[in-house]
Amino acid sequence: MIRRVLLLGLLLLLLTAPFSVRAESDISVLNSAVEIDFPNTLIFNLEVESRADIVDARLHYQVDKMNYAQVTSEGWPDFAPATTVRTSWSWDMRRSSLPPGAAISYWWTVVDAAGNRLEDTARELCFDDGRYEWRSLTESDTTLYWYEGSDSFAAELMGVCEQGLARLAQDIGTYPERPVKIYIYASAGDLQAAMVFPREWTGGVAFTEFGIIAIGISPGHLDWGKRALVHELTHLVVHQATFSPYGGLPTWLDEGLAMHNEGELAPSLEARLENAVAEENLISVRSLCSPFSAEPEKAYLSYAESYSLVEYLLRNYGQGEMLDLLTLIKQGNTYDQALTEVYGFDIDGLDTRWRGTLEVAAGEPAQTVSWSRRGSLVEACSSFQGGSR
Ligand SMILES: [Zn+2]
Repeated sequence: MIRRVLLLGLLLLLLTAPFSVRAESDISVLNSAVEIDFPNTLIFNLEVESRADIVDARLHYQVDKMNYAQVTSEGWPDFAPATTVRTSWSWDMRRSSLPPGAAISYWWTVVDAAGNRLEDTARELCFDDGRYEWRSLTESDTTLYWYEGSDSFAAELMGVCEQGLARLAQDIGTYPERPVKIYIYASAGDLQAAMVFPREWTGGVAFTEFGIIAIGISPGHLDWGKRALVHELTHLVVHQATFSPYGGLPTWLDEGLAMHNEGELAPSLEARLENAVAEENLISVRSLCSPFSAEPEKAYLSYAESYSLVEYLLRNYGQGEMLDLLTLIKQGNTYDQALTEVYGFDIDGLDTRWRGTLEVAAGEPAQTVSWSRRGSLVEACSSFQGGSR
């Protein structure tokens, strides 16, 4: 029965379609160009005419990003009714911002005083940072854009991305959910100038839902850049894999996975962890579920502990368990519930077991200390999780 009603509806739609097209032909769009004033404004221009006064024009747009439902937003430009209307609607990025390279589809609907209504065809645009001449390099689903540095600079960065993605697949079992775009700015200053509300410590940002990373790497700081890029890429992939309306990962797990995938642990962080163990000054795992302290010393120790915690879980339990943990958190379980179901202990149980291995390790020669093997802090990490996360 439902199918029959649907068919009838479709038939009616087909029958009425030609009439509405004829009625709409009175209104015509003369111009629908877009201007980008990156990173501040996106201006949608409209020039439209009809035989009767145009009384209503509105912009409809959809942003291409991960979402729980397709969202269409509207913009209402100001204008006085007339047979020819030139108007525009500006998207002020101070209210809600877009990363470089974000894709948008948009269309206009226009109504005149005679009751004619036109729905214009949808168009696509990319919120590109046109202040630089970007070059690009694509490998499978990853595209890297850069404007300073040689081809080999870009190839080297692409190489670490591919290795980073392969390690994520192997160690944790996660993959990007959509193509990844990476914008390499030539410095932290250039990156900050590309953001509406930059924070002075921002060195790289993962716009998870868009599949976009923006990061400042000068060709002279390639080693730092490679680590920082893998760190942000890991945040991006892990956030996509755990994208849900229920809330994010505990900070220690999020940062620990990014650091695990990044490489060797910086000696300065290793030393801080050793000191904290010796002085019985470790921050509890439960505290590390929340955003880290802004106090530098506490932040460094938080990163070092996060790295160590993830190493502990991966070394002692493996990939399948880590993926199960991420999945259970994604499904809305509390951190305690998810840990208990996968590992048989909650946050406090993890804290006790992990501390036990550190105390044993602290008594051994440095080269055999398991948690001192890998990872390095990306001090400028600011992975971005928008919306309800
Ligand atoms: Zn991070």
